[in-house]
Amino acid sequence: MDRAIIHIDMDAFYASVEQRDNPNLKGKPVIIGGISDRGVVCAASYEARRFGIHSAMPGKTAKKLCPNGIYLPVNMKKYKDTSREIHKIFRRYSNIIEPISIDEAFLDVSGKNPIKIAKDIKTDIKKEQDLTASIGISYNKFLAKLASDMDKPDGLTIIKKEEAIEILKPLSVRKLWGVGPMMESELNRLGLYYIEDIQNYDLDVLVSLFGKRGKEIYDFSFGIDYRPVEYNVSNQSIGEEETFSGDIEDIDYLIEYLKNYSLNLSSKLVIKGYLGRTITVKLKYNDFTVETRSITLNIPTDDEIEIFETAKYLLSKKFTIEKPVRLIGLTVSNLIYPDDPLQLSMEI
Ligand SMILES: [Mg+2]
Repeated sequence: MDRAIIHIDMDAFYASVEQRDNPNLKGKPVIIGGISDRGVVCAASYEARRFGIHSAMPGKTAKKLCPNGIYLPVNMKKYKDTSREIHKIFRRYSNIIEPISIDEAFLDVSGKNPIKIAKDIKTDIKKEQDLTASIGISYNKFLAKLASDMDKPDGLTIIKKEEAIEILKPLSVRKLWGVGPMMESELNRLGLYYIEDIQNYDLDVLVSLFGKRGKEIYDFSFGIDYRPVEYNVSNQSIGEEETFSGDIEDIDYLIEYLKNYSLNLSSKLVIKGYLGRTITVKLKYNDFTVETRSITLNIPTDDEIEIFETAKYLLSKKFTIEKPVRLIGLTVSNLIYPDDPLQLSMEI
């Protein structure tokens, strides 16, 4: 039996949260981030997008395009709290949820009524959070995500199996999952501009040029995607490590690294909506021996300072560093999805 996958994507999320909380901002071009000239735009309301503003644009460029826009700082805590509430809504409709960013998630609702669920989720989000989401429904993740983008904002789009190949044909190759600007220009160089071109191309040539990715985009071009909705996060981990160009003996230098790693890992956790319980520091010495030390916290965290303090404690109290260090790594594992009653009851 076919699966039923829902992809939910909040509309202009950060900007919409700000407009919701300050009605004076409604209908106005609101830009989050990019306040300083060297800063970068994180999000833009639909009104700001009409001026050509989009995320990742330098603040300087944005201000040229829209000098009268309202530029606001990034209030991550507020977006994170709102995101948590929205994820609670998802939980009412499925246990198989994969968050892919702070404002996007997949739900597997196979065997249920996906259209009714999508409508109910949109209603709940509007009623409880005064925000809109666009939802795509299809029989796999690639097409559900494609569908959610087709009628933004406040959209609800279904791609049925029998129409997928035709819908895909006229779309740019850029719409294939994972095809970024680099891959796009490589495909263009082969004369492949539209998904139909990929459908008609030789699979063997794609594989010889791009390996596994070649087979993947060929499959996607026919709407084939068997990837599951990854809802079991407990065996996943996120980590950072770096090999130094020389030997390091200065512990303060290592602590600086842990500080940077903690900031990056905390942001990754927040974006995914996960909390982690186990913090691990890894050292590789100049004779290539490796040591690791871990602590499992009582209460899971995504907090930068807590991760850093724990890592610093491990480094300074749990290792006896007698040899120069060549690599330091920091990992957060034992991840959980907050508000998951099953996982929390097992953990606490
Ligand atoms: Mg979004």
